[in-house]
Amino acid sequence: MSESFTAVVLDNVDGKPKGLFRELTLADLTDHEVLVEVAYSTLNYKDGLAFTGKGRIARRTPVIAGADLAGTVISSRVPDWKPGDRVVVNGFGMTETEGGGYTRYQRVKPEWLLRLPDGFSLEQAMAIGTAGYTAALSVLALEDWGKIEVGSGEVLVTGAGGGVGSIAVSLLASRGYNVTAGTGRPEVQEYLRGLGASAFVTREELAEKANPLQKERWTGAVDSVGSSVLANVLAQTVYGGGVAACGLAGGADLPTTVMPFILRGVTLLGIDSVMTPMPKRVRAWEFLDKVLNRDHLAAMTTVEPMSNLPALAEAILAGQTRGRVVIDVT
Ligand code: NDP
Repeated sequence: MSESFTAVVLDNVDGKPKGLFRELTLADLTDHEVLVEVAYSTLNYKDGLAFTGKGRIARRTPVIAGADLAGTVISSRVPDWKPGDRVVVNGFGMTETEGGGYTRYQRVKPEWLLRLPDGFSLEQAMAIGTAGYTAALSVLALEDWGKIEVGSGEVLVTGAGGGVGSIAVSLLASRGYNVTAGTGRPEVQEYLRGLGASAFVTREELAEKANPLQKERWTGAVDSVGSSVLANVLAQTVYGGGVAACGLAGGADLPTTVMPFILRGVTLLGIDSVMTPMPKRVRAWEFLDKVLNRDHLAAMTTVEPMSNLPALAEAILAGQTRGRVVIDVT
């Protein structure tokens, strides 16, 4: 295969890595063992940071952008993967040190590949993407920790109108928890109600500066926002409650005190998706296959061509995208 294909490459523009459309051939790809024909990638917050150069994501240049990919194996130098296998890669340094999914073809290491459950199409796999798989890791972390109960108390999701937030709302509601959605956009409330949220709290309410210990409200929470929102969520978590912290859409700082931890025994559960070991990834995708409502997934997803990435990258950083954006790389 010698013909060229379009890819988005992060390369230096005025000293900063930014997204550029380039024509590549297979010879431009890293020589990893498995060649995948990519069908879809996706837009995560991190992809917005990488494409615009507003976050330090690319740690070498040039590197193909896109933190996720879903596609079909074309050729493989290892026996575990065969032509025709439907695969997903989330993270593993893609768009940081390794080439990612904004390309028609990509070569990947066999140990990064996850076999897509039969219950999902390639498009649905990227409607989930890193954001959805991170939401699954967060919900599983809360359930493993063991103190949220169906029918008792409220579970909060912050940044609920975004990708991680929308899928977390849907998963938690499908599991039977009472879900409160924290959002800065009144116009997404009906959408979030459709995903299973039963109550709402505004971003302003969650972000205002307040005491380190407040009225106890949440038995558990999935926080994709960080900063003062996470500080207030911790301050409002019930005695013995837990918070899964997975994001920084509102800032990477955490202006809090130890009070929620030492006076209420609150647990802060850290969630990383990028280097999660494979067995935990497989469990998260099986959980998604079993629990994620496909109508919810369709309602939260838009499909966009790769050529729209410049505008989409700005939009996700401005908190203007709703739910999940799939990128069609064909
Ligand atoms: P989205 O942009 O889709 O969602 C983020 C949401 O946060 C927005 O939709 C908005 O929700 C809210 N928000 C945006 N800006 C602000 C702000 N300044 N203050 C408060 N709230 C804000 O991004 P993703 O869902 O893709 O990612 C969410 C976060 O999770 C990101 O920080 C991302 O880096 C992180 N993440 C971490 C992973 C990990 O491995 N730990 C993996 C995947 C994502 P609303 O309008 O409803 O308020």
